[in-house]
Amino acid sequence: MSQYHPLSLDEAVALAQSIPGHFREDAELSVREIGDGNLNLVFHVTDEADGKGLIIKQALPYAKVVGESWPLSLDRARIEREALQIQHAYAPDLVPAVYSYDDELAITVMEDLSDHTIMRKGLIEGQEYPLFAKHIGRFMASTLFYTSDLGMNQQEKKLRVAQFINPDLCKITEDLIFEDPYRDSPNNNFSEDIRQDAEALWHDDELRLEIALLREKFLTHAEALLHGDLHTGSIFATPDSTKVIDPEFAYYGPMGFDIGAVIANLLLNYAAQPGWSLSLEELQARRGRLLQMVESVWRHFESNFRELWNRDVVDVTARTAGYQDMYVQKILRDTIGFAGAKMIRRIVGLSHVADIDTIEDAALQRQAKQAALQIGTALVRRGRFASSIEEIAAIAKQAAKEEQVTL
Ligand code: ADP
Ligand code: MG
Repeated sequence: MSQYHPLSLDEAVALAQSIPGHFREDAELSVREIGDGNLNLVFHVTDEADGKGLIIKQALPYAKVVGESWPLSLDRARIEREALQIQHAYAPDLVPAVYSYDDELAITVMEDLSDHTIMRKGLIEGQEYPLFAKHIGRFMASTLFYTSDLGMNQQEKKLRVAQFINPDLCKITEDLIFEDPYRDSPNNNFSEDIRQDAEALWHDDELRLEIALLREKFLTHAEALLHGDLHTGSIFATPDSTKVIDPEFAYYGPMGFDIGAVIANLLLNYAAQPGWSLSLEELQARRGRLLQMVESVWRHFESNFRELWNRDVVDVTARTAGYQDMYVQKILRDTIGFAGAKMIRRIVGLSHVADIDTIEDAALQRQAKQAALQIGTALVRRGRFASSIEEIAAIAKQAAKEEQVTL
């Protein structure tokens, strides 16, 4: 019989108190449930006296999304926890420490990051993150390299692939990112003022072919252990610290999917900026920084990845002249294509981003959606033929140039 039940607040406190060496024995602990309640519970337990805290994350056995409900395996809590532990091993300063877990209760007890801000919120407020690209580039290079056939024994890697079979969560990605936006699906969710733009996606055969090819990569290319949902809402940041959370979509997939997710979310914020910047100067400064960040994320990824390859590659075949360059080019192309697909789904698909949907002015919000779609579709079309990360900035600047609504 399964012991599973959603924790009560009192149980959360008792569990927190039982973690050895964390809280003082006579500590008066307080607890709040701070998750958004859709997929998981998140308990924040603190000692009021010294501010020390910890986080208990518990998976719920279903997902409630906009009036719909579907069952989701509790095994995803194990997958998230094991991914956190592996990522922490390769990038200890960039991932919260796991203190304890209980697979039957689908619980992970982890480091409290409440002194950080969710990066999406920070970016909307115009916060600068000068070290972000460096941090996330290193995070992705080391977690992707060392979990791939390049950085680990190929037979052990196959066992890892099995360990991270994640059908329920992969299905969400397969449907919401690679399928629904390109047909008249009841899962789609877009405002009437962009209906024409949304419907154009359903009939664009050239675009749909590129999406089919990206979907095939997502389905079949078990290159590395991905985070699987690396958007700016899964990143806690301060100007000098970056922490990656929430890898419940982790599975073995194509490396460019993670890098593309980061870049897509920077570009969604770029598209949204006319709704947030208060002056033309501010708009240009923020957008300039975002495009720099996009390029820098890729450059830090690439240089770290090549360095790890040159130093630690375990596969002699991978030392063949020319192979590394071809591999990196493949990742770049995948990154650009996946970035585009991830932007499009946030405009017309089920799940959106606050950067765009909380813009108050209706005309500016519509313009942001159209800019995001323009950039997203251009990236999807360009991906397979791209040769440089700089092509992204050119595409983004073109969309900005065509904007009509002024601040
Ligand atoms: P979900 O999978 O339900 O999206 P997340 O892991 O993204 O759950 O967590 C939901 C929210 O809970 C986060 O946006 C953040 O506010 C809070 N949270 C999650 N993990 C931590 C943590 N380690 N420290 C502090 N707050 C956290
Ligand atoms: Mg989340």
